[in-house]
Parts: sequence; structure tokens; C-alpha cells
Amino acid sequence: MKTAFITGSSRGIGRAIALRLARDGFKIILHGVSESAKIRELKSTVEKNGGTAEIATADLCDLEATSRLVKAAANADVLVLNASVQYRTPWQNITPEECYSQLNCNFVSSMMLIQTAVPHMKEAGWGRIITIGSVQEAKPHPDMLVYSASKAAQTNMMKSLSLQLSKDGITVNNVAPGVIYTDRNIEALSDPDYAKKVTDSIPVGFYGKPEDCAGIVSLLCSDEGRYITGQSIYVDGGKSIL
Ligand code: NAP
Repeated sequence: MKTAFITGSSRGIGRAIALRLARDGFKIILHGVSESAKIRELKSTVEKNGGTAEIATADLCDLEATSRLVKAAANADVLVLNASVQYRTPWQNITPEECYSQLNCNFVSSMMLIQTAVPHMKEAGWGRIITIGSVQEAKPHPDMLVYSASKAAQTNMMKSLSLQLSKDGITVNNVAPGVIYTDRNIEALSDPDYAKKVTDSIPVGFYGKPEDCAGIVSLLCSDEGRYITGQSIYVDGGKSIL
């Protein structure tokens, strides 16, 4: 049985990906900042459906905590780098602390987890690495300068690694969501004026659900995905091209 490690899988998009990959037959390593009721409930759901799941925790803004976590990724066949933090701050007021916190979680931790998981993938001659990016790589929000830059940096790393690992049976891709209705944006979208502005910016005319991001991840993790590498795939209802 192959193992899939999904960061930030206690909730939202990561949760939907974990459930989908469990259904596809992967053993799942769930991850959150702490062992919350939500992550324990998700582990039981996977197990009730006949799957296998473990829980690993770490705050990925903290590089020492990330160093301790990486061991859990050492035998992963699939790595989905989904956890991120984002701050809304006008660019003139961004502090170095906010900057490093976002860079650590959204870029540095991804690199550290990849460094740990690749030796096993190379030995197996098979691996899948998927970074979760954002529509903000194409359309940066003015008040999320570091967040959008960190996602673009992660995608640039993905492209470099896809070339360097292409002969080892390892594919490396980025899935970039648009507006997906999760805990992260529930509050902002509860303002009807803001919600209308956002909906008007999405060609299909509605927000996505976490499950909308899971199908493409499932495809990329399957053998049918073996010829797709180095790509950034938007799951955004067309927002990135508007
Ligand atoms: P979410 O609902 O806010 O869930 C966040 C997940 O990340 C949770 O599992 C949380 O764990 C974990 N997490 C938060 N802070 C962390 C930290 N410091 N260290 C480690 N893990 C941390 O997120 P989401 O909306 O599903 O987003 C998932 C991914 O999609 C992110 O990379 C995000 O940038 C990207 N994305 C989302 C949207 C969107 O509209 N939702 C749009 C574009 C891109 P706990 O439960 O333990 O806190």
C-alpha cells in the first residue's frame, strides 16, 4: 500500500484530498498544527471507510518543529504540500516576522519535506509531489504580497524539481485553487458586497468546494498521471485568465 502525506489536511482542501486519496487506496498521513478534534474525527472517518490513517502535527511556520515533523514524511510515496498561512496587510506595513512566518510555512517547509521524501521515492522508482499554489500566483491580491510571492516561489521550485526528478519516476506538479469556500475565507465572504465582487471575478460565477480540488490531485497521484509533470494546473473557475 502506498502512503500519502498531506500537510494541512485537518480541514478544507487538504481534508478533501485526504478523503479522496484514502478512497483511492493510499494509507494517509494526516497533518495539522495540533491534534484537534477535527483531525481525530477525520482519522476515524477514513478508518470507518476501510482506510488507514495516522496523524502528524507541527506548526510549519516554526522550522524546528518542521525539522521534527519531516521524519513522518520519510516513507511517503505521495507528498501533497497543502498547508499555508496568509496575512492580509498593506505592503508598507508588512513586518519581517509576518514575512518569515509565511515563507517558512508556504515555501521552506515544502522544500524540507521534499528533501526528506525524495530518497524513498527514488528507491521505489515512483513518486508524486504536488504543491498547492493559488490563483494569486497569476492575480496577486494587493494586501497579500508575501503570500502570493511565496506561492509563486513554491511553483518555481516545483518546475525546477520536476526536471531534476523526471528520470526517477517522480512527477512534480502544482495545483492552484481559485476561491474555494473554506474556514480561511468564510468571514470575508460573509460581507455581501465583498462576496458579490469576488463572485463577479469568477467566470463560472460561483465559489469552488474543497472537493473540486481533489479530483485533479487523484489523477496526478494515479498511474494515469505519469506523463504530467512540471505543470501548474488552475482549479479556479477561470479566474486566473480573466
Ligand atoms: P484552511 O481551511 O484554512 O485549512 C488550513 C490547514 O492548514 C489546516 O489543516 C490547518 O491545520 C493547517 N495550518 C494552518 N496554519 C498552519 C501552520 N502554521 N502550520 C501547519 N499547518 C497549518 O485552508 P484551505 O482554504 O483549505 O487552503 C488549503 C490550501 O489551498 C492552502 O495552501 C491555500 O493557500 C490554498 N488556497 C486556498 C484557497 C481558498 O480559497 N480556500 C485559494 C487559493 C489557494 P489546523 O486545523 O491544525 O489549524
